[in-house]
Amino acid sequence: MLIAHGPAGYLVGVTATRARRRLDLVIAGIVGGLLPDLDAVGYHLGIVQGFHRATPLHWPSVWIALTLIGLAVILFKRGMGEIITVIGVSALVHCGLDMTMAPLYWGAPFHWHSYEMVHVPGGWSPYWLGFIFYWTFLPEIMIWIAAFWLWWNRRKRVEQ
Ligand SMILES: [Zn+2]
Repeated sequence: MLIAHGPAGYLVGVTATRARRRLDLVIAGIVGGLLPDLDAVGYHLGIVQGFHRATPLHWPSVWIALTLIGLAVILFKRGMGEIITVIGVSALVHCGLDMTMAPLYWGAPFHWHSYEMVHVPGGWSPYWLGFIFYWTFLPEIMIWIAAFWLWWNRRKRVEQ
């Protein structure tokens, strides 16, 4: 996934808020949706070496653990626990969306076999053009449309 992690995180956050309007959960969804790609930023800054999706930020086990911690925290501090849980779930959705077009280590750090649903052919310069000119970019556009449609309709309901 190239450009849809933010909108996908927004969809997770809005789903978590349901009818209650909780901006903190929407922001948590967006943050969780973007957080795993901090390793890509590190890669481009020269901090992360090798394949950036092999770092703990792209290990689903990390986000499952954070989600479980968030659920435990809900028991004694509800608001904070919900925020942690939404960040964890949204980051897990990020990993699932990444796997649609890039290898991901679902069993890390216990099992190092990568899984990838669709292999996007390389050979483009810059490399990311390959992700734009392949059919896997269509779901990204659909996620943007869904997020925009939801934001637009929620906005209209506030104005009424
Ligand atoms: Zn990613």
